Amino acid sequence: MSEIRENLNKVQETIEASCRKAGRDPKEVTLIAVSKTKPVSSIQEAYDAGVRDFGENRVQELMEKMDLLPGDIRWHLIGHLQKNKVKYIVGKTALIHSVDSLELAKEIDRQAEKKGVDRVDILIEVNIGNEESKFGVKPEDAPGLVDRILSETSRIGLHGIMCVAPYVVNPEENRQYFVKMRKIIVDIMNEVGHNVHVDVMSMGMTGDYPVAIEEGATMIRVGTGIFGERDYPV
Ligand SMILES: *Cc1c(COP(=O)(O)O)cnc(C)c1O
Repeated sequence: MSEIRENLNKVQETIEASCRKAGRDPKEVTLIAVSKTKPVSSIQEAYDAGVRDFGENRVQELMEKMDLLPGDIRWHLIGHLQKNKVKYIVGKTALIHSVDSLELAKEIDRQAEKKGVDRVDILIEVNIGNEESKFGVKPEDAPGLVDRILSETSRIGLHGIMCVAPYVVNPEENRQYFVKMRKIIVDIMNEVGHNVHVDVMSMGMTGDYPVAIEEGATMIRVGTGIFGERDYPV
């Protein structure tokens, strides 16, 4: 068996074990294979093993790969999105995980209208650890941003929140942040009403996804754990 297939099996088993531990149904957790910096051949290998959700953090790289791979792949943009790049990717992604300002949401909305795209699905990125080096809104600003996006845009499908937790050696250290994400979802519901479904939580990477699942992650983003170490950092 190829290394990618073997890794995928291991990740799948870990997802199931974490769900069992938390009393959750593994079907509630979508695995996104983070393929940034990895070649098309590796993505094809994961695709052949059944993966359909892939994550990239750069618009240019995502578009190049998209053209070379099967059309039923769901592409997730997980990296920072600049406003001037929005026009290239509107209509091409399954989900943009990294919206962190009203201005960016409005630009997505504007480009969607221009291109005749009915709906662009997004998440709000939250800087859950309040780290200088990270993108995302402050945790306390998330409900207000959700509220304004819902009222000031018409083509945005807002589904929930995403975070990149701090880099830690012991994944247990990030449990507090995953718990905090769940509280933000509750705050959002209280702000915008419980009839609005803003309940997706994209959290957990190779180093901490079992803990994220235990705390309610509905999407996990795993790169190294599937494709191996990246040759260069991003
Ligand atoms: C690279 C990246 C990941 C995957 O990281 P691994 O530690 O390799 O699993 C997940 N989310 C984002 C936003 C990333 O940039």
